[in-house]
Amino acid sequence: MDPQSYIPGMTPADPGPLSRFTPPLEEGVISRWLPLHAPMGSWLLDPFGFSPRLVLEAARMGYRVLVAVNNPITRFLLEAAAKPPTEADFKAALADLAVAKKGDERLSVHLQSLYLTTCEKCAQQIQAEAFLWRKGEDAPYARIYTCPHCGDSGERATAHDDIERARRIASTDSLHRSRAFERVAALDDDDRVYVEEAIQFYLPRPLYFLTTVINRLDSLNLAPERRRAMNALILVSCDIGNTLWGHPSERPRPKQLIIPSQFRESNLWSQLERGIGIWTQTASSVACEAWPQKIPETGGICIYEGRLKDLAHEAKKEIPIIAVIGSVPRPNQAFWTLSALWAGWLWGRDAVEPFKIALRRRRYDWAWNATALHAAFTHMFDLLPLGTPFFGLLPETESPFLTSVLTAAGTAGFDLKSLALRTEHDPIQLIWRGGEHLKREMSEPNIDDVRLAIHEHLMERGEPASYMHVHAAALIALAEMHALKKRNQEFDEALRDTQTLIQKALEGDSRFVHYSAGENVDTGLWGLRETIAAHPQNEAHDSLSDRVEIAIVSFLQKNPNSIFLEIEDDLYPHFPGLLTPPKAMIYSVLNSYAERDGGAWKLRSEDLASARRSELNTIAGTLESVGSRLGYSTHKQQRSYLWQEDDQIRYVFYILASALVGRAIAESRNQPDHTIIVIPGGRAALATYKAQRDPALARQLKNYRVVKYRLLRALLERPTLTRETFEQQIGSDPIEKPKAQIVMF
Ligand SMILES: [Zn+2]
Repeated sequence: MDPQSYIPGMTPADPGPLSRFTPPLEEGVISRWLPLHAPMGSWLLDPFGFSPRLVLEAARMGYRVLVAVNNPITRFLLEAAAKPPTEADFKAALADLAVAKKGDERLSVHLQSLYLTTCEKCAQQIQAEAFLWRKGEDAPYARIYTCPHCGDSGERATAHDDIERARRIASTDSLHRSRAFERVAALDDDDRVYVEEAIQFYLPRPLYFLTTVINRLDSLNLAPERRRAMNALILVSCDIGNTLWGHPSERPRPKQLIIPSQFRESNLWSQLERGIGIWTQTASSVACEAWPQKIPETGGICIYEGRLKDLAHEAKKEIPIIAVIGSVPRPNQAFWTLSALWAGWLWGRDAVEPFKIALRRRRYDWAWNATALHAAFTHMFDLLPLGTPFFGLLPETESPFLTSVLTAAGTAGFDLKSLALRTEHDPIQLIWRGGEHLKREMSEPNIDDVRLAIHEHLMERGEPASYMHVHAAALIALAEMHALKKRNQEFDEALRDTQTLIQKALEGDSRFVHYSAGENVDTGLWGLRETIAAHPQNEAHDSLSDRVEIAIVSFLQKNPNSIFLEIEDDLYPHFPGLLTPPKAMIYSVLNSYAERDGGAWKLRSEDLASARRSELNTIAGTLESVGSRLGYSTHKQQRSYLWQEDDQIRYVFYILASALVGRAIAESRNQPDHTIIVIPGGRAALATYKAQRDPALARQLKNYRVVKYRLLRALLERPTLTRETFEQQIGSDPIEKPKAQIVMF
């Protein structure tokens, strides 16, 4: 395997519709990978259709993307992002709805009246922004509003009329609930119970609101474009309208249908209006057709509605796929169940049918995930020419998810070529190639090989790593040996075996140290025992954070006024694969050495190499003269200065311009009591950051005195300095002591 460097991107300014269910990916990543692997205009395949943004970015660059999507909601998101309704259509559709009649009332007035509340201060009737509920209660306990009359604003306890209104709406609930149900499934449908359960995640008021709007739309006969715009707005309201919005927000990205103990019920009329902004801010036009319609060579999206299996059969002859891209799906019971429900509400029972299985399934475990992915990879394998590259993204990674994906892909014939991991909070970037064929030898997994892989990674890293990193190092080794699953073994057994193997490899090896508050192997950090880490052979391996510091500073010396992305671009190729430095580390170095003007970073004037050199020389000169005044002779040894008396070392000074304290410690290992590490004041926060993320370094640092230039200079300049006052004062201004907690990134 040849690990590639992580491709940096930008967090999207606007998360877009249904963003808590769509994969959290950075923008600009795929558009940098693609030109290196596929000529513009060529065909790409996204077998999962999981991330509309990823597909859109590739299509906008000028690629033709064939996407298999079986979730009708994701399909709608993709179509709507590719061919967005105009803002005028959105506004006109909403206006048509607003003036429709409900009895004698305008529909807008009727729907807004559902959210009336009384201002606590001026007693006017106003619109609540939201009501707050406790799970299981029949009325909200609080409301949130901003009064347009007197300006009173915030969270207030519910009043009598709020409770009455909620109960009044609830009294007609069963009628609306059965209507909502019948749009999704027939009364005699076997899946009836599942639909009913899914609808339980709607309170009476939002359910009444949504069914009223949807039923009225049927009779409005809107022009197709306006109807599509209205569907887009309703879809956002369907998401906002369920009970999965914890208050305060604790699980911002739900995976399971679980009602939080406290949750927020938003004013859906305001949300309809707000929805226009959500859709129009992120969209831009690109050709989009349903298979087998043609799309132009200048790029576009071709959507295949069926199963990947059938597509493989149909497309093989017609479409030369040059590369595969995709955000690999992880199970999301909440989104998949709600997708089936919403598809029924928006388009009726027929639209639900192909996706109905999502309603039935309650639990998605990793074995299910691996089995489903394996099927997808296998169908894809049949469709692709030998050696086709596949760029996969894995957001919201957990170690069992990564095991599942690598096992599924490997056993379907895809060879893992690269795995780049930044932190467990960033998407993993994977590259596979379609391999020779499935009839390859599977080897027995070997614990020694796993240990070797973990050991090598930790040596290379020079500092402890998160469990995710050592897990990935182990999986890469197993994938290369084709040892993730035995022939004829079930996926659940294979995944379990792999997990047990990695756990045994870590726990049964005295070279590895676990830094963790918890018992579980997959928490905290894993490192090497200090005696190994300090072995002379390992000298070349400064810690990752030290090497990153050096790399950033030398880049900025040569390239002042660089933006963050340029710094990442230079940095990541030096630290490929599992060594990708976290953004927090880059920022810690930048904040220590550089200043920002707009978006551009440059070294502070005192941190230019020439300035630092001259300061070092001054301090060295003073050390020598003061030393001789105190009766010590000064000797330079490698990077340190020694104060000696009768050939005995009394003090060793490491005067650093950097925060490379680990290196100073490695060189002075035998005499911590005598050693004083001197760093510029501007480096103190960086040294502290390093000690916080590296418990081994933090423990070693406790034996050393680390002082700032400022203190040493002040001491040396003191005319009355004696040996006693020097010894007393030298430890009086320490850098901030590292806290016990471990910084995970
Ligand atoms: Zn008021």
